[in-house]
Amino acid sequence: MVARVIPVEPFDLVIFGATGDLARRKILPGLFHRFRAGQMPPDAKIIGSARSDIDSAGFRELIAAAIGEFIPEELRPAELVSEFLNHLSYVHIDAMGETGWSELRGILRPEAVRTFYLSVSPSLFGAIAERLSHNDIATLESRIVVEKPFGHDLTSAQALNKDLLRHFDEQQIYRIDHYLGKETVQNLMALRFANSLFEPLWNSTHIDHVQITVAESIGVAGRGGYYDQSGAMRDMVQNHLMQLLCLIAMEPPSKFTSNSVRDEKVKVIEALEPVALDDIVRGQYRSGRDNQSYFDDVENANSRTESYIALKLAVGNWRWAGTPFYLRTGKQLRDRASEIAVVFKDPPHNIFPNKMEGRKGNALIIRLQPDEGITLRTTIKEPGPGGMRLTEVDMDMSFADALGDSLMSQDAYERLIMDVIRGDQTLFMRGDEVEAAWAWADPLIAAWEDANQRPVPYDPGSSGPEEALMLMHRGGRRWRPIGD
Ligand code: NAP
Repeated sequence: MVARVIPVEPFDLVIFGATGDLARRKILPGLFHRFRAGQMPPDAKIIGSARSDIDSAGFRELIAAAIGEFIPEELRPAELVSEFLNHLSYVHIDAMGETGWSELRGILRPEAVRTFYLSVSPSLFGAIAERLSHNDIATLESRIVVEKPFGHDLTSAQALNKDLLRHFDEQQIYRIDHYLGKETVQNLMALRFANSLFEPLWNSTHIDHVQITVAESIGVAGRGGYYDQSGAMRDMVQNHLMQLLCLIAMEPPSKFTSNSVRDEKVKVIEALEPVALDDIVRGQYRSGRDNQSYFDDVENANSRTESYIALKLAVGNWRWAGTPFYLRTGKQLRDRASEIAVVFKDPPHNIFPNKMEGRKGNALIIRLQPDEGITLRTTIKEPGPGGMRLTEVDMDMSFADALGDSLMSQDAYERLIMDVIRGDQTLFMRGDEVEAAWAWADPLIAAWEDANQRPVPYDPGSSGPEEALMLMHRGGRRWRPIGD
């Protein structure tokens, strides 16, 4: 299958933090891919900005090196890279200072889609928004993109929203959760709402439970300082896993518009029941043969921050009453794998004489990474003349096989940046959505802090703490093996 490429409107994209890791690793390589695909208009301007005292030529050199580092050679012919670099320029600005802003204003064109991408610490969001507004750089049509983390708790998220809303309308603000830009995550909506096959079964009458797993095989070394202030709940559950839960549990929106979709997601978050501490397992990885312990990685022997968390959640509404959602995410686990497993109930009556040993039941497994695809676990007759014995088989589909590797390898950032230019907010979090997720997470964090709870240790390369297995066993269920 060949991707259809529709060029976007002429744009001026200003990237604050353009010398940083995210800009070099994701944003600019992503823009290069869109340029290569023919989606970037010939007069598009990309303006980098940061405190580093470099000029446009220096910035182009920096980005040429980044493209060399992060894009395979066969995908970056020299002439194309040099054409792309012609779109780039640089303005030296300290976000907290007053110089450079009028130079930036002079570069921007009134007729182009004007976008500001804040790839900087959230502590600078307010200062940049204010200066863009006071220097008459932001217009009523401009767009502003902000990176995660969007707050540390409800109060800080509200403060960030306030800082942005002082100068921009909600329709101008794009809060990135790069998970939503993943092809498979968007496919969740297509799967549910463009097929008649699943929706009649998509409720607690037919679904026993849902498992959402986002497992990483690496630890936090290198970003321990940030991570230890955050932990798995704040870094992953409040945003990425919550978004996945919303897409699985939401009601069908009446149409596919950004506000209809986001209205339905907010309703899911607001329907979440309070979670008992018994239904939360937090862990910290031990040292192993090839890795140091979490304590050593964060250089804090007294840390109580979790590198693993598993939770049992209940969505208190008509559709999901009685169907638990199990979420787990962690570092230093046995594999890097993200998936959603929708596990169906057994048929109401067994007509077959032989009981199937180890039966797991029907399940729809949506693999987000690696090897994005869908597996449908079904029960069939075991072949052979030995009577009516049953067995389970996986009907397996890999999106790369079905649709082509190149389509599936598109990075989330490429899509999200193009969506911003097109003015489509569907895959971005709305202010009330982020606040609702924090309003849900805050009391849970407060509960384990009040209880002075310490995370339990787990072995690196394992599936997480034993206690997380028990969380499932108590309900007569089992986690799927990670990376199976
Ligand atoms: P980084 O490597 O530390 O880069 C920060 C950038 O901000 C640099 O370009 C820095 O350049 C600029 N900067 C710092 N202070 C500034 C100021 N006062 N005025 C203007 N520019 C300033 O950080 P990063 O990893 O790229 O992350 C950027 C943001 O994205 C953060 O909010 C991070 O949480 C988020 N994020 C990052 C990733 C990732 O994979 N890296 C993933 C998700 C989210 P100068 O020092 O030259 O000013």
